[in-house]
Amino acid sequence: MQYVSTRGGAAPLRFSDATLAGLAPDGGLFVPEAYPTLSSDALAGLRGRPFEDVALAVLSAYADGDIDDAALKSDIDAAMATFCHKARTPLVQIGPRDFVLELFHGPTLAFKDVAMQTIARLMDRILEERGRRATIITATSGDTGAAAAHAFRGKSAIDLVILYPDGRVSDVQRRQMTTVADENVHALAVEGDFDDCQRIVKELFVDRDFNERVGMSGVNSINWARVAAQISYFIFSALALGAPHRRVAFSVPTGNFGDILAGYVAREMGLPIERLVIATNQNDILDRLTRTGRYEPGRVAPSTSPSMDIQVSSNFERLVFDLSGRNAASVKERLLAVPRRGFALTNSERTEMLKLFSSGRADDRETGETIGAVYRETGMVVDPHTAVGLKAARECVLDDDVALITLATAHPAKFPDAVEAGCGIRPQVPERLARALTERERMVKVPATTEAVAQTILERTRAAAA
Ligand SMILES: *Cc1c(COP(=O)(O)O)cnc(C)c1O
Repeated sequence: MQYVSTRGGAAPLRFSDATLAGLAPDGGLFVPEAYPTLSSDALAGLRGRPFEDVALAVLSAYADGDIDDAALKSDIDAAMATFCHKARTPLVQIGPRDFVLELFHGPTLAFKDVAMQTIARLMDRILEERGRRATIITATSGDTGAAAAHAFRGKSAIDLVILYPDGRVSDVQRRQMTTVADENVHALAVEGDFDDCQRIVKELFVDRDFNERVGMSGVNSINWARVAAQISYFIFSALALGAPHRRVAFSVPTGNFGDILAGYVAREMGLPIERLVIATNQNDILDRLTRTGRYEPGRVAPSTSPSMDIQVSSNFERLVFDLSGRNAASVKERLLAVPRRGFALTNSERTEMLKLFSSGRADDRETGETIGAVYRETGMVVDPHTAVGLKAARECVLDDDVALITLATAHPAKFPDAVEAGCGIRPQVPERLARALTERERMVKVPATTEAVAQTILERTRAAAA
């Protein structure tokens, strides 16, 4: 199987090369030339099997022989062994047909661990086999950097450089990045905001000379291998509730459209998903999109669910590609216009999208109210991101026989203040988080310029020295 760019200007790559590349060189996103499918029998055959078996079936279809199954299995098993729950991603029932899928039992207590733990191992393996090294540079507003630090720590072929905005991530998130003691993890506190961090990473990516010197690679949510790894829990949870013979729907707290895109792809692969609910906070570009058909970034407004404070949902480009009938020229033209004036879906694209997707929005007040209501009705303490998903789920109208699964994307202890304000309970701090709260921190402060960051990376990483 080959991976092609949504903007049509990059040579097709195999799985391992697309994984190392992250973003396509033409600025587009890699997608498989066709989605592999799992027949109804194949799906039914996975019912009752451990999470790891489902993940192997999915990743094997995407790797398509480029990484053999034994290697995939060993990396998936090791990745999921970092989770502290035997079910890995357990389902909890909170109503007659309402369920919560807990994706936060990994090392940094957020759903990003599922994919990041897996692709860190895959990338290290691919590089080792080629006798190469890479420097992964990522900008983060909190959770991605934490998940990456814990996934790439100690990996021999990789240096990880995390750019986070100094003073603008939560204490917990910062400590999860800065207390990782391994020498290949470098936390840079950039004296600017998240947009500065992202701009610097983009500028480094287009600097060919620098890029080649350090062997630059990316792991933000546009990396296809991350999407592929996330497909597994949509299938795993749906099977547990009776799929493929019972219809399911998902409500997904959304920022970059990465997690929910994996749900869409699961359906393309043959999983009978009735509906996907896009749940957003007040940064509601995607909710406005389903209502108006226009994709128009606004200004980022800080919320109590900060991992979704995003106005440009990068992975949406992959859906637009499919909606347009895989018309790369049209995708390129529209996506290039995003910073200036946004773009519109055509009427038929919008109609097609609304057959599967709907959306809901929760501001901070509604998020807090939902945390309170869910606690009173079920005894469950949920984090603000999950609450945004649950509010949208509560408003979603479905046939009675459809099971509705809301993705719980973070552990409540990661956002204790918002949780306590919502339901009066201070969440208990799990041991793995308690450790990060006391260990010694290590980071380098850097001015918010591309030159200063490049200089720091060249001084500190091993790829540059080699
Ligand atoms: C990253 C994140 C999200 C949003 O996920 P996307 O893939 O960007 O849509 C939601 N909740 C939490 C806790 C996150 O860390």
